[in-house]
Amino acid sequence: MKSMDAILQAQLDQRRAEYLYRTRLNVASGCSSTLNIDGQTLVNFCSNDYLGLAAHPAISQALKQAADQFGTGSGASHLISGHSKIHDQLEQQLAEFTGRPRALLYSTGYMANMGVINALVGRHDLVLQDQLNHASLLDGGHLSRATSQRYKHSDLDNLQQRLEQSTANRKLIVTDGVFSMDGDLAPLKEISGLAAKHNSWLMVDDAHGFGALGMQGGGLVEELNLTVEQVPVLVGTLGKSFGTFGAFVAGSEALIETLIQFSRSYIYTTAMPPAIAAATLVSLKILRQETWRREKLASLIAQFRRGAEQIGVPLMESSTPIQPVLINDDLKVMQVSAALREQGFLVGAIRPPTVPAGSGRLRITFSADHSEEQVEQLLSALEKSLINSTSQ
Ligand SMILES: *Cc1c(COP(=O)(O)O)cnc(C)c1O
Repeated sequence: MKSMDAILQAQLDQRRAEYLYRTRLNVASGCSSTLNIDGQTLVNFCSNDYLGLAAHPAISQALKQAADQFGTGSGASHLISGHSKIHDQLEQQLAEFTGRPRALLYSTGYMANMGVINALVGRHDLVLQDQLNHASLLDGGHLSRATSQRYKHSDLDNLQQRLEQSTANRKLIVTDGVFSMDGDLAPLKEISGLAAKHNSWLMVDDAHGFGALGMQGGGLVEELNLTVEQVPVLVGTLGKSFGTFGAFVAGSEALIETLIQFSRSYIYTTAMPPAIAAATLVSLKILRQETWRREKLASLIAQFRRGAEQIGVPLMESSTPIQPVLINDDLKVMQVSAALREQGFLVGAIRPPTVPAGSGRLRITFSADHSEEQVEQLLSALEKSLINSTSQ
């Protein structure tokens, strides 16, 4: 009989042969517009730190002060004694920010999505997921034991058909706001119309919209002015534009109380450290007030798209800081990203199963911390790397 390690090794070898093997970098610096890796300084075009807040001095200062006052650990779950006044204050401010009656903190976005879907639906119910939803949403659907279906990406007809055919007790439509690997926007107004018409609930995960979209950084729901009635379940994460860590769900009183009672990934885990909540209070204020960060970001994105068009780099329909360059071939994705790295640029090399088979891509992301010069240099490097890879 084969040993466990022999079986696992065969599986690992297979993954390597398909150019899908994952390795990690050991980054020697904090998250900013440049990263230090193995003694080399690389311009960072792969973080989700869209506003450049992950290393903001005022936020770090708040973290340090709160750590001096409250220590490092919360020591218990929210329902026992881990829920501090600072958590409560942050929840109130997130509720006000999102224009919802209440908000609830989770330790990560992954856990929020698992815990919310699980608390809202079960056997005999239906979860309708956009095909390109984030893995945590899909996993949350499976965990809930409701029937999970995936509708075609942002396809309203396909969604409507499925709603019409369903005889499920509760129906929950789930979608990313800004899609994490494509950067495009869900047609939320239309989806919320369908939800209302078919008596279905709607959950939106706007992990990548918060901070980047909306006048105050309130994401896609702010930009489209969608109320709590239109989008009753709204999820945001704190590890992206907010530059800290954790996640929140915003919605009605009944929704939040339901989650406190029944959401297992909320109940059975240690509360986030209060110092993180204190840091996030400061980051929320900066995220809302410093609109120049969103303007700078928008101008860098426009600069990149103009430049890419000039040199013939194929872009996708994205107006957000996520600008994918489709390469399709998984080996070539690795080669192009390696060539970019040699020239001093780090971009995401995204392959299946993170994206559908045959849609491997560079995932280039922008931050308000980048300079115009860095974007210009990226474009030249991209031109060289893509030309070299086609002549191979
Ligand atoms: C990053 C992300 C998550 C997970 O959030 P974490 O706080 O990193 O666990 C959930 N949903 C989407 C769409 C994401 O991009």
